[in-house]
Amino acid sequence: MPRVGFIGLGRMGHGMAGRYLDAGFAVALWNRSKAKADDLIARGAHWATSPAAAAAEADAVVTMVADDEASRAVWLGKDGAAAAMKSGTLAIECSTVSHRHALDMARALRGRGLIYIDCPVTGLPDAAAAGKLTLLVGADAADLDKARPFLDPLSTTIRHFGDVGSGTVYKLINNLMGAIQIAGIAEGLAIAEQAGLDMKLVLEAVETGVAASPPVIRHSKRMAARNFEGATFTAALRHKDAAYAVALAESLLREAPVMGRAAVVAYDRAKSVAPDDDEGRMIELVSRPK
Ligand code: NAP
Repeated sequence: MPRVGFIGLGRMGHGMAGRYLDAGFAVALWNRSKAKADDLIARGAHWATSPAAAAAEADAVVTMVADDEASRAVWLGKDGAAAAMKSGTLAIECSTVSHRHALDMARALRGRGLIYIDCPVTGLPDAAAAGKLTLLVGADAADLDKARPFLDPLSTTIRHFGDVGSGTVYKLINNLMGAIQIAGIAEGLAIAEQAGLDMKLVLEAVETGVAASPPVIRHSKRMAARNFEGATFTAALRHKDAAYAVALAESLLREAPVMGRAAVVAYDRAKSVAPDDDEGRMIELVSRPK
């Protein structure tokens, strides 16, 4: 029975950990707040009292936490996973972290004889719980082959972009483009409302027009209805990803990324108002009060 240490049971991680139980893995869990583990423990997972305890017996440790700070804490902080892992164990970072952080972690964990791969994901929490994520991997090909048995329960698609860090590069590009699109649709719909357009017609036109993309289609309906129930991706996470992407862009592009910086400013504002609410509430920020 393969043994996995799973760290981080938020909206995404909870469903992902459940997939390992469904697949018959021995699962040791740690999350900063234990309550989120209760139903998984009832399904057979072992509760570990620290990241180190979750990692000690594992063949692979998978992390799905918020950001760089959380990732550093669970790998390298007090009672962090890395110090407890046996040499040659896989360290699979599914969290969306900055490119700099992914490279730093790869170096630090490799220095301890561990195999760190960056493996951020696309897909919403329902896809995580159903094992239907797309994984964006940066790893040596041989390391990816070792990791595949631990990636298959989570995913329908694995995209291997190249060496460590490259999965994160793609993830940040993907989410920066998403941030710009979603902030754009908030402004576009707010203008349409203010100008008195028939919003049913506007939505129909958006969904079938040149601006349509899966995130635009999903968010435009919810924004127009001001329906932000069941936040899947929060303003704080969107701001984090856009900021990480802009830092990467600033190191690679000829000029500062104008669109990216605008998205960071927009989501900084959204985050300061309601960090844990759905990112689509951006439309409330740009609309005139009724
Ligand atoms: P979430 O629901 O906010 O969960 C965040 C997780 O990180 C929780 O387990 C939280 O612990 C933990 N955490 C935060 N700060 C920590 C710290 N300082 N030390 C230890 N643990 C800490 O977020 P999510 O939506 O599951 O997202 C998780 C990751 O997946 C993020 O990197 C996000 O960008 C990425 N992602 C999300 C989606 C999505 O649709 N939601 C899609 C693709 C990728 P507590 O439970 O104790 O707060």
